[in-house]
Amino acid sequence: MNNYKIAKELLEIKLLLELSGDINNAYAFENSALSVLALEKPLIKFPNIDFLHPLAKEEILNILELGYSPLKESLEARIPKVLKQMASIPGIRVNDVLKLYNTLNIDSLSDLERSIKSGKIKRFFSENFEEQLRRAIFYYESTTKELSLFYACAYANAITLALEDAGNISVAGSVRRGKEVVNNIDFVYDFDEQNLLKEITTSFDIVNFTRKGNLIQFRDIDGVQLKFYKLPKEFFYSGLQYYTGSKQHNNEIQKIAKAKGFEISKSGFVLLYANSEEEFYSKLSLQYVPPELREGEEEIDLAISNSIPKLINLTDIKGDLHVHSSFSDGLSTISELHEEGEFLDYNYLAITDHSKGLRIANGVSGKLYMKESELIDRINSARYNPFLLKGIEAEINYDGSVDVDEIMMSKLDFAIGGLHQFSNTRFENTERVKKAIKSGIINVVAHPTNRIIFVRKSIEVDIGEIFEAASKYGVSLEVNLFPNRMDLSTGLIKEAKRTHVKYFSVGTDAHNRGHLHFMKYGVKILRRAWVRKEEVLNTYSLEELRDLLCVKTH
Ligand SMILES: [Zn+2]
Ligand SMILES: [Zn+2]
Repeated sequence: MNNYKIAKELLEIKLLLELSGDINNAYAFENSALSVLALEKPLIKFPNIDFLHPLAKEEILNILELGYSPLKESLEARIPKVLKQMASIPGIRVNDVLKLYNTLNIDSLSDLERSIKSGKIKRFFSENFEEQLRRAIFYYESTTKELSLFYACAYANAITLALEDAGNISVAGSVRRGKEVVNNIDFVYDFDEQNLLKEITTSFDIVNFTRKGNLIQFRDIDGVQLKFYKLPKEFFYSGLQYYTGSKQHNNEIQKIAKAKGFEISKSGFVLLYANSEEEFYSKLSLQYVPPELREGEEEIDLAISNSIPKLINLTDIKGDLHVHSSFSDGLSTISELHEEGEFLDYNYLAITDHSKGLRIANGVSGKLYMKESELIDRINSARYNPFLLKGIEAEINYDGSVDVDEIMMSKLDFAIGGLHQFSNTRFENTERVKKAIKSGIINVVAHPTNRIIFVRKSIEVDIGEIFEAASKYGVSLEVNLFPNRMDLSTGLIKEAKRTHVKYFSVGTDAHNRGHLHFMKYGVKILRRAWVRKEEVLNTYSLEELRDLLCVKTH
């Protein structure tokens, strides 16, 4: 069974556990599912899967042995079907589902729709809630489903792994270009289509497929479209370039190719023989354009004059600057995180547990922080790489003060400040963050818009004012790579750059050792925003980073 399918099972169990009120175990299953999705190799190839929560591990072993999950079956037998159905709609939270079920006795999706139409929801709850439900249902019922980049990359990875022995296959389209939300996953391949059909229909949950020319398009059980374009072997790279897009970029490429005397195939790719995409661009006298930049903006002009900047690469990242341990709401111990950081060949890792002000995340008190600090010292003196930085994800309180006390301050190497408890107005949220930026305490603003993909675009906050304050006071902005956050987004990273924000801080917001691997997909959104390595704090060496953070060396 492939990682995507295993993770989907774990996520379904998570939902059922949440509906049954078992929040802690639901959390463990969700975090384990994300860790499975972040793996590069099939889970079954790992000699042990101790990096997952013990309960999730046990259930995976059951699934692999029996072909189904006994835990899922027993939960499904207990929980009314409609609850799971409503809770699977993105944008409707489990609490809302239980509220609807318990207050209005809603027992089907059509019943819910009727209650919206008759004004019942508005009467019992609020207009806002009604609007939120209306939008969620509209999205759920629309035929094209969207996926966030992380899930799309993980899905694509499972597919390419399943087919890697068949011949050349590569992800193309908007996933390859690193778009944060996509509505289909595109591939190019050059082998016998029977192999493709067999593998995809047996290993993935496919509902139907269609063929048109060189395209086979599958629709999976969740409504996700998988498109496979077959290419002649000799034009694999030329086809990969074409099916990666974007349309605007390709229009420019075709003009250049025609001017150079190349012909265009019926499907649309340039009939140019190349051994790599690099060679393809070079034969058109162009500098190589990384997929993330192919949006038809100014990349072609720059490629002609050989002046596309060198973008940040995964290998430039020297450490993770946003990591939670079991001292707050993380599931891994600091030693385990250290071990995983060593595996990733990191030079440093900032342990940034929540501060005490965030009670639901088990925030760390000043007293407990002393213990955490001692443990970090012990690990640092016993083992070297990665060096553990003492950090905190401090609450920005309602009055804009930062939730760290003096004793804690004396220990800290690094502080990120964030809002997790929001004010009612745009003005108040903005003022709180600006005050924290001016305090001189925080180095980084965590997940600046607090968006949750498919749930909310941003909290009420004037992001432009935050960019200006950050730029003026030398505070960095986070690009948080937790899969449903991706905050700042590509568009806002570009805007922050225009406001002269000097540095970005990249963090996975890991709550489990496996989450440290989110970095590999997340780097794409930085590249898409034309970010160079010099603009990212965690591409600097430990010594340089310390200078940038202006902290004393302990
Ligand atoms: Zn946070
Ligand atoms: Zn966090």
